[in-house]
Amino acid sequence: MTSEQRVVVIGGGLAGLRLAQRLGPAAAVTVLGEETHVPYNRVLLAEVLAGRYAPEVTALPAPGPALRRGVRAVRLDRDERAVHCDDGTVARYDTLVLATGSNAVLPPLRGLFEPEGRDLPDGVHAFRTMDDCLALSAAVRPGVRVVVIGGGLLGVSAARALAARGAQVVLAQQGERLMERQLDADASVLLHAHLTELGVEIHTECRVRGVLTSAAPRNPAPPAFEERGPGRSPGSGGARAQREVTGVELADGYRLDADLVVLACGVRPRTGLARAAGLEVRTGIVVDDHLRTGDPRVHAIGDCAEHAGQVYGLAGAALEQADTLAALLTGEPARYTGTRALTRLTLSTDGDRSLDLAAFGETTPLPGDDVVRLADATRRTYRKVVLRGDRLVGGVLLGELSTVGALARTWEGEEPPHDLFHLLTDDGGH
Ligand SMILES: Cc1cc2nc3c(=O)[nH]c(=O)nc-3n(C[C@H](O)[C@H](O)[C@H](O)COP(=O)(O)OP(=O)(O)OC[C@H]3O[C@@H](n4cnc5c(N)ncnc54)[C@H](O)[C@@H]3O)c2cc1C
Repeated sequence: MTSEQRVVVIGGGLAGLRLAQRLGPAAAVTVLGEETHVPYNRVLLAEVLAGRYAPEVTALPAPGPALRRGVRAVRLDRDERAVHCDDGTVARYDTLVLATGSNAVLPPLRGLFEPEGRDLPDGVHAFRTMDDCLALSAAVRPGVRVVVIGGGLLGVSAARALAARGAQVVLAQQGERLMERQLDADASVLLHAHLTELGVEIHTECRVRGVLTSAAPRNPAPPAFEERGPGRSPGSGGARAQREVTGVELADGYRLDADLVVLACGVRPRTGLARAAGLEVRTGIVVDDHLRTGDPRVHAIGDCAEHAGQVYGLAGAALEQADTLAALLTGEPARYTGTRALTRLTLSTDGDRSLDLAAFGETTPLPGDDVVRLADATRRTYRKVVLRGDRLVGGVLLGELSTVGALARTWEGEEPPHDLFHLLTDDGGH
């Protein structure tokens, strides 16, 4: 890449801004970012919601003039090598990078939308963006009744944060247990107990089938934008009365009253622009080991990208992909071969009522795997590793994370663990 080569990045999130930062101020980079906020790290939104961090604390390193804030890309013209934006401008590129992230999934709940409508009822919020977080934060007060739908990483983080603000929180999880993608059954039980102690009422194997609403006075709402992330309650501008959430209906017909409902049902890569431009999209935008789509001038990184059948949806992968692409674009030999993603979460409220957890790799053993488990019921700690032959293939730690660094390094390095007991009980001096 020469300094005259124009790089346009769509998406001013973690991946897009890391790439711009790595390419440096001398490169001709433009980042188009639809959000108007100072760029932020969304991993920290739960801390903002909990009231532990001010929104400013989540700011990403200042991107300088490369970032065009509040500008949304609406169409790609690959023949002309041009990106058309919602403010009427056109950004021309030699290299285009799609870093559009993902949208919150809006589950097919009865009553969520009116026929032909696109507005969420008042009181129903997704949990993906700073706008979602600030709207939810403004609505929560002690004693408010909240139903969080979804018991994965997002739902657990949101429930903990809302409980810390004094809300009465019910968490409805369709699956058998909490964070089933990351944790094994024993770790889920401990997490369940911890959240219950914080006052969260948890219902597992509980499917919400509908949202209950009543008519409410209409609030002025921002104009609707096409392909916006959902959950922003875009106004339709029509005369229809706005609805306000009053509760949810469960699959067995039971009704739970609620003043607020949080949709934490997962995310879906934002692929609309790529698909419309004829690029290959499966779950995410398909890229090769050079993070390149079928068009050699167009790349994709972060939550929107699918590499070797894998869409990560994790910050670590987004950053690693951005770093690899920066190396490739500056002519260094590099290849992206996948990310060994570690999930880490701190569920802290005050002092001794906090719980840290970390999970990596395969936490549920296959037949023939060896498992080493250390559990301390008094200290509420749980450590488990899964071994396949002489290789560490996964682990989960709750309550006591001092060994996570050493374990993760062994796992990433694919080296046989020399002294497993030492690895589990000591941080190896790091
Ligand atoms: C509450 C929460 C907690 C999380 N916790 C963790 C965690 O503990 N650990 C972890 O690893 N990951 C976590 N994640 C996931 C992590 O935040 C994402 O993996 C990461 O942000 C991905 O970065 P990205 O740049 O690909 O996407 P994003 O950060 O989503 O950035 C994409 C940006 O592109 C913009 N955009 C999209 N389309 C356009 C367009 N057409 N024009 C202009 N701009 C556009 C979007 O508005 C957005 O700002 C969490 C996510 C949330 C929401």
